[in-house]
Formats: sequence, C-alpha cells, structure tokens
Amino acid sequence: MLIDIHTHVQQFNKEDIEILVDNSRKANVNIIIAAGTTISDSKKSVELSKKYKEIYAAVGIHPQNIYDENTKGYIETISKLTEHNKTIMISEIGLDFQETSPEKKLQQDFFYNQIEIAKIKKLPVAFHVRNAEIEAINLIQLAKINELRSVAHYFSGNYEYAKKLLDQNVFISVAKPFLRDENLSDVIKKIPLDRIVIETDSYPQYFKKNRLRWTEPKDLILIIEKLSMLKKIDSKKLSEKIESNTKYILDI
Ligand SMILES: [Zn+2]
Repeated sequence: MLIDIHTHVQQFNKEDIEILVDNSRKANVNIIIAAGTTISDSKKSVELSKKYKEIYAAVGIHPQNIYDENTKGYIETISKLTEHNKTIMISEIGLDFQETSPEKKLQQDFFYNQIEIAKIKKLPVAFHVRNAEIEAINLIQLAKINELRSVAHYFSGNYEYAKKLLDQNVFISVAKPFLRDENLSDVIKKIPLDRIVIETDSYPQYFKKNRLRWTEPKDLILIIEKLSMLKKIDSKKLSEKIESNTKYILDI
C-alpha cells in the first residue's frame, strides 16, 4: 500500500475528487492525507474525510494563509477540529519567508502554537519551510519537536539542513521535484531509508488544461520507482518500508 502523507485534495471540485480517488485506488494508494491551509480549508478536509474511507484529515494554518481569514481563537478552533476521529495530523504549518509573506514574528507564533496543539493532542505534524531554514531549525528546537513524530514536507534543501532535521527526529518527505532535480537526488540518496516518507502535495491545477498533467496521489509510484533505483532496493520492499515509516508517523 502507498500512503500520500501530504496533499490538498479537499481543494479539488467534487467530480474531480471522485476521479482522483478512483485513480488512487487503481494505483494502490490507499491512504491520502488532506491537509488544511486555513480554518475553513481544514474544515473542508475534515468533511471530505467523512466521505472517503482512504482520506484522512490534517488541520492547520499555512504560514502564507495567515491573513486569508479571521484567525481569532484559532488555537481553540484547530484544537477542536482534531477531535474528529479521522483527523490524524497537524498540517500544514511552518515558515515561509518570501517578500509578500505575512510578518515573520506572526508566522513564528502560529508555527510554535500549532506545534503545541500537536503535543497536547498527541498528533504528528507536517511542516513547510521556504527561505527560512535557519529560523525553522531554531524554532523546532525551541518547541522541542523531537518529542513529536514529525515530517519536513516537500523537502528540497541540502544535506546539511537535512542532517539538522534528522537530528531533531524529523522524517524527510520526498515529493515530485526529486524526479528531475539531480542535486536533490544526491541529498535524498544519503537520507537513511527508515527516515523517508513520500507525498505528492496534490492541489488543483486547473490552469493545466490537460488533466493527465495534474499531480495526483497516483503519482507516488513515480517517486517509488526513482527511489528504488537510487537506493538500489526492490520497489516492493521499498514500498513496504515506506508504508511502515508512514504508519509509525501517523500512529495507525
Ligand atoms: Zn502543501
């Protein structure tokens, strides 16, 4: 079984979710985590998880989306959303320091506080980091993320950064950029197999007219194939190993 540990499938329209889930079943992807990016999007993830047995919810506020809606009382709201029996993760949280991003201090507060929710609720976290690797390492050390099960989602950094994450007990989530980025492949090659999980980060790509070019959970197989070559391990054995890593993270 393949598990997509990070997607935003709740953002697709109804008909497309139907097709996407069907495609996933055919590709042996039997668990898909739908990660929220705002409060309302997190609620959508929870709702969707009620409709499909393979979809589970992750709830959280993405650093880029902090200003999207009123976040007053978000700690209580996100905590409450974790009470649904198919909410199994806090995500997508993190730091994103681009020019147009929300204020850094605010992002750090949201990241820290949502890690705290994960601790209280005993849930794993998946976090996003862009242009903020040093700050992220400082914050996850401060928040003692090593006491939690956690995942660096869509990993695309260098080995030095990967090593710092591994030292904090963080798992590395490999996504599609790894298929074409040789530097990233060299880094992933050095990551111990027992610390790797995989994801597609699927979200609606309606700007791509040809549906066949959308990223969907079924594409996990492409990541497995490349990893199998890189690590020189049979793809079936590799899938089993990654399945067990992911089940450990998700506690299922
Ligand atoms: Zn994402």
